Amino acid sequence: MSFVEKRRGVMSSDQDQVDEVTLTTNKIMVMNNKKMNKKMKMKMKKKMKVNGAKNDGCSSCDLVTFDELPGYMKDNEFIRNYYRLNWSLKQALFSIFRWHNETLNVWSHLIGFTLFLGLTCSNLIHVLPVSELLNIFTTWSFPLGPEVNVSHNSKNFFSDTTELIDLKHSSPFGLEITPTQLEATRWPFFVFLGGSMFCLLSSSICHLFSCHSHPLNVLLLRIDYVGISVMIITSFFPPIYYVFQCSPHWQFLYLGGITIMGIFTIITLLSPIFSTSKFRAFRASLFVGMGLFGIIPAVHATLVNWHEPSRNIILGYELAMALSYLIGTVFYVSRIPERWRPGWFDLAGHSHQIFHVFVILGALSHYGAALVFLDFRSKIGCETNV
Ligand SMILES: [Zn+2]
Repeated sequence: MSFVEKRRGVMSSDQDQVDEVTLTTNKIMVMNNKKMNKKMKMKMKKKMKVNGAKNDGCSSCDLVTFDELPGYMKDNEFIRNYYRLNWSLKQALFSIFRWHNETLNVWSHLIGFTLFLGLTCSNLIHVLPVSELLNIFTTWSFPLGPEVNVSHNSKNFFSDTTELIDLKHSSPFGLEITPTQLEATRWPFFVFLGGSMFCLLSSSICHLFSCHSHPLNVLLLRIDYVGISVMIITSFFPPIYYVFQCSPHWQFLYLGGITIMGIFTIITLLSPIFSTSKFRAFRASLFVGMGLFGIIPAVHATLVNWHEPSRNIILGYELAMALSYLIGTVFYVSRIPERWRPGWFDLAGHSHQIFHVFVILGALSHYGAALVFLDFRSKIGCETNV
């Protein structure tokens, strides 16, 4: 073997070694790629499991963190965990029985709604005796016509005048009601109860289903804002209607004024941009502005009825209502206490839950005031109507 042949032999064995090394490296790379693909697939599978398919729902419906949320759901960065994302309507509905960061928001207003539904029913039964209610449900005829027996106050449910009727019940506030006295029309009272129920129910529905998809999230937030506006507008009906019942022009001015403000608020908040967290304080200021409008008729009514015995009771209830709404709004805007300890109040105790509780307390205080207004107008009729 010549030197050249020897050299060729050495070179070919070197080449073989290089080829072997390259092959092994390639094999390792392929294996690594396979492993990585498998890992990525597992990760993607897990992610899909977490997020859930938009239409098919989620198999295990795991909860996600704030950082995993899409932009439209990033409302409160101090609530770190337990978010639902892209859940089907069915899964969202049954999540009412699961712990997540909206559970108490849903339940608080659902309990408030049930409470007001109960109050409405008890007042309806009070207005209409049970026998007549049964008659409505069996014959589907509402007793509004003059042909119906009006020996009790059912005729006054939608009546526009204050009439003399026979009452045999006592006031829940110890105000003396004599057997024969006036009974005020009750529809403004029921308008307020209806508005409160609409607000509380729409809020619960919004908190329960807004995790479903972006379009539904935007729609439900709008309905929620409409609900709050409707609750504020309808809250004005019992006080304005009963206090200024003998001065229809003031009734028209104040009720017209708050209705226009409410419509303006609703139209403004229908724009999706105002649903974002950036406009939290702006939204609150619109609602507070509507509430503050009430100061004008309140001062007017107090001055006109300065010597009215129930004045202090009414003012007490309305002050409690105003304080409840204001304290609730402070929590809503400031996001206390979760801003002090992000992640600590994700499930219970965060600002929105506290805000919900104060909304219910405010509505209950106003309900108390509305009963006294009704009592007041039942005792003092308008001279022209009596
Ligand atoms: Zn809410």
